[in-house]
Formats: sequence, C-alpha cells, structure tokens
Amino acid sequence: MYKKDFPILAQSITYLDSAATTQKPKVLLNQTNTFYKKDYANVHRGTCALANQATTLYEEARQKVADFIGAESKNIVFTKGATEAINLVASGYAQMLKEGDEVLVSIAEHHANFVPWQQACIKSGATFKVFNILPDGRFDMNDFKKKISPKTRVVAVGHISNVLGVVNPIKEIVELAHKVGAKVLLDAAQSISHLPISVKDLDVDYLAFSGHKVYGPTGIGVLYGKTEDLNELPPYQFGGDMIDEVKVEGTTFALAPSKFEAGTPPITQAIGLGISLDYIKKIGLEKIQKHEKALMKSLIKGLKEIPNIQFLGDPKHKTALVSFNIAGIHPNDLGFILAKENICVRIGHHCAMPLHTYFKMAASMRVSFGLYNTKQDVQNFLNAFHKAIGFFK
Ligand code: PMP
Repeated sequence: MYKKDFPILAQSITYLDSAATTQKPKVLLNQTNTFYKKDYANVHRGTCALANQATTLYEEARQKVADFIGAESKNIVFTKGATEAINLVASGYAQMLKEGDEVLVSIAEHHANFVPWQQACIKSGATFKVFNILPDGRFDMNDFKKKISPKTRVVAVGHISNVLGVVNPIKEIVELAHKVGAKVLLDAAQSISHLPISVKDLDVDYLAFSGHKVYGPTGIGVLYGKTEDLNELPPYQFGGDMIDEVKVEGTTFALAPSKFEAGTPPITQAIGLGISLDYIKKIGLEKIQKHEKALMKSLIKGLKEIPNIQFLGDPKHKTALVSFNIAGIHPNDLGFILAKENICVRIGHHCAMPLHTYFKMAASMRVSFGLYNTKQDVQNFLNAFHKAIGFFK
C-alpha cells in the first residue's frame, strides 16, 4: 500500500529485512536534499540566518522525537544510534556502580544491550546477572523475580527482541525494578516503528532507539532519560557545546541534553529523523501495526505447513518479525538460494548469541516486516523458500 513512497522498492526485490534497517521514504530523500540546498549550516553557534534556521530545524526535530514518545525535549539526547545511546548510559554506570551492586539483563538481549553492561560490571566490580526466557520466547518472570534484589541498580531489557518478536511486559518489569530502587533502560530499537510508545506510561528511566530502524537516516539515534537520571549521569564525551565554563583550573558542564552532545552533532540526520517520524505519524502506528499483524498471520500460516520447521519461540507471540530453522539444513544454504531470487532476509545469530545458545542453535533465518510490505512479498518469500528447501531434500 505504501510501497510507492519508497523509491528503492521499485526494483524487483522482496525486502524482508526491516528489523536490520528500514528503507527510506521519498519525503525524507527530498527534504534532506532541500535542507542541504537551502538551510545547511552548523547549529547553536552561528549568527547568520542559515545558522539560525539550521538550529531551529535541529531543535524542532528534538521536539518531534519527544512528542513521538510522550516526552519533553529537554529529556531527548541525540546520539549516533541505539548502540551509542546504551553505551552512553552504561559507561556512566561503569563509573557509578560499585562492588556489591548488580545489573540485570535478559538472555534475549541484543549484544548492544548486553555487552556494554557486562563491561560496565567488569570495570566497576559490580555483578552482571542474566534472567531467562521461557521456551515460548516470553520473559521468565519467575526467574526475573528470583534475580532482582535491593542490590540491583539497573535492569536493561528490550521492548521487542530482534530475534523473538515478542512484546515484553515492560510495565511489570518497571514496577518490580522501581520497588527495589533499580533504574530501567528500555531498548526500543525493535519497537519504535511498530508500537505506540509513551515513556510516561511505561515509566522507564531510559529509552534508546536508532533512526535507521524507523524509516530515518543512519548515524542518528535517541536516548531518552528522566531529568534526575540525566543530571546524575556523567558526560560521555568531552569537547565543544557540552560545557558551561572552561578554565585552566577546571571545567563545568552544560545541562542535559547538551551535556551529552559534544562536538558538531549529526544535524541533517536528526532533522531527517524528524521528517520520518512525521511520515509515520501521518499514517498512524495503529494502522501500521494492524497491517503488519495481518502479514505475520499469513506468513506464519505458510511457515507452519513446512515440515521440520523450528521456530525460535512460539509463533503465536510474533509481532513484525519471526526467526526459524529447518531441521537438518543450514540457514546459510537456504539464504543463498533466497538471495538468488532477490529475497532479502537475515541469517545468522542476529547479534544475540546468548539467545541462540539458549535455543541450542548457532544461527537462524529471520523475516521481518516494514509498513511497505505486502501479501505478495509474503508469497514471494514462501515460494522461494519452498524451492530452496526442495533443493536440499
Ligand atoms: N537493540 C536491538 C534490539 C536491535 O535490534 C539493534 C539493531 N539490530 C540494536 C539494539 C542496535 O541498533 P544500532 O545498530 O542501530 O545501534
């Protein structure tokens, strides 16, 4: 329905890898071009009209992000991606945690929300703890309750796993975490383009996502933090734009979000993200969700008919992505044939090795949807997949 908004999809490809990155709407390409042609300058420092206009557009983009997740603009930090946003928080905690403190993450986390916390614990002497999932892919809340304690300082979890596609019970996690005084960081990289999100409603302390997974540019990401948390967190990088006063004797820092935006920021990318969020808002996330749910229903129906299919988690819980294997055939071999048919899917551990270890699988195939996918895309995939399996029989 919306495919025509995405020039790249005019080619004869079946793009089913939106969990890795989404394609870009024409409006983003056109308006980025206009910005470079008409309004481009550095932000926050100039006096000329161009610099003022670039600064206005950059700060308007921050407001658009804030509105998109029900926050205020002073709580939105631009980063280069979800990975950098999580590293920013974890590296701050590496300085604030001490021996005896604990950090709790799930076994289903993307490496971006796993390794930075593991490293923060190594550096600080805190204990890194991991809670399990159930075989159907949902969080094992009994294990979570066993592992959270008054020693827990941070709980870092994904909203939707990039392998399982299950929507996790964030409100329950937040309630239990706050009861013991722990902060919650929500990795929203896989939910931001599929679910309406309100940070006020979820009451998370931090939230991270990437622009490129929500139809925006690469090189831009978002960290949301509550005011008291952003104030407590030490700066991540040092340099221009993040200071209050610099003297030979010492430096004081600006308030958030400037404190975390050292140097020239990704100006065009931030403005581009705002354009993409406008585009999604116009369509409506509820409508996108309904569309993707219908696609998933027909994909799962087709997949279930295939002998020896092994889903990672129960297929009834999937949102816009599903991962699976065919027993006895390596997904790389199947992927090779799909690629020849111009079908783009993802094969590998999807940066979630602990999760694949849990399922005793080295790799899997993942099909993921964006708002531009159609029933025809699902059919193209199923036809090619049957052909590929037939080849290896
Ligand atoms: N978390 C999740 C759940 C993801 O799927 C990804 C990207 N695959 C990331 C974090 C990291 O995002 P980025 O690479 O854009 O920083």
